[in-house]
Amino acid sequence: MIIGVPKEIKNNENRIALTPGGTAMLTAAGHEILIEKGAGAGSGFLDDEYAKEGATLIDDAAEVWARAEMVMKVKEPLEAEYVYFREGLTLFTYLHLAAETKLTEALVRSRVTSIAYETIQLPSGGLPLLTPMSEVAGRMSVQVGAQFLEQFYGGRGILLGGVPGVPPADVIILGGGIVGTNAAKIALGMGANVVVIERNAERLRYLDDVFHGRLRTLMSNPYNIANAVQKADLLIGAVLIPGAKAPKLVTEGMVKTMKPGAVIVDVAVDQGGSIETVDRVTTHSEPTYQKYGVIHYAVANMPGAVPRTSTLALTNVTITYAMELAGKGVTRALYGNLPLKLGVNTYQGHVTHAAVAEAVGLPY
Ligand code: NAD
Repeated sequence: MIIGVPKEIKNNENRIALTPGGTAMLTAAGHEILIEKGAGAGSGFLDDEYAKEGATLIDDAAEVWARAEMVMKVKEPLEAEYVYFREGLTLFTYLHLAAETKLTEALVRSRVTSIAYETIQLPSGGLPLLTPMSEVAGRMSVQVGAQFLEQFYGGRGILLGGVPGVPPADVIILGGGIVGTNAAKIALGMGANVVVIERNAERLRYLDDVFHGRLRTLMSNPYNIANAVQKADLLIGAVLIPGAKAPKLVTEGMVKTMKPGAVIVDVAVDQGGSIETVDRVTTHSEPTYQKYGVIHYAVANMPGAVPRTSTLALTNVTITYAMELAGKGVTRALYGNLPLKLGVNTYQGHVTHAAVAEAVGLPY
């Protein structure tokens, strides 16, 4: 199969859909890989590294799209890319179509087969192509939290791990899923006091087990949350109710009780945020604002700050599916692989994902 990888054109998007390592796997299986020149630069992958693995470097995006049978991307196509859509093309990328009516219509109209990374789903309910980005964001949440606790950035001037004779910081994590668990790992590694607040008792048991009692777990209810938030030096929002807006677990009143210079990192901001005072999305260039003396960090695309790690983590999980799609051909691959089939959002001029159809108001 001919697989094209254009450069991402979304503002500040430095990831690329395929690493040189992934390219090597596909070319070894006999596939032809077209990489737009410079597409890997933002992640620190040079054109030569792709060429060495057998890829063909192409000068412009239009040619990549025109020659490829399947295009692999990171982010959803922007309007400038809709002109490349055509019947017979397969698009494999993060799409988030529920919020993209125009894009959905363009894909349907041009009869593109679009497979969304985020709707590929395992029988366990897990979303394997979203997990690595949650791992990145969870680990990063503590790193950025530690930075903004420094006095220079307006923080309380507290070192997460303390030092002998001086107590460590209190890190409160709301939600013990992928983000929360990864945040807990890093915070514990840095020597902080860590509390995870979760509503799922099974998950609390699991966390207690795997961390050998090194972190404290609390059942999620307003009483426990209010008490914990008061003491927090770093508060991390990491809850998710799949398909819904994040519940506002921390009220404005609770934020008012926080210590001056404490830091909130609301990772769940991409689902509306789990803290009432997180009333806007921030960016990597202006990541924080202050409210009631508390620093708020609400960047919705945290993995974008570490594109190399994120690109490597993404290819690690997409490559198996890409190999299957390329090896068997798209239609056969979809019939034989239920998780992959659940990834199909548009096919032969129809929306094929119920939630997307409902969200954009198109027939399913
Ligand atoms: P997950 O499903 O693995 O974990 C969410 C956890 O929240 C679950 O364990 C669930 O039981 C718990 N939860 C739900 N309601 C709760 C409540 N009322 N009280 C306490 N816990 C509750 O999800 P995840 O992969 O960890 O993702 C968490 C959030 O982070 C999502 O909104 C996701 O989109 C977001 N995210 C953001 C970025 C970013 O860059 N900002 C990156 C990756 C993920």
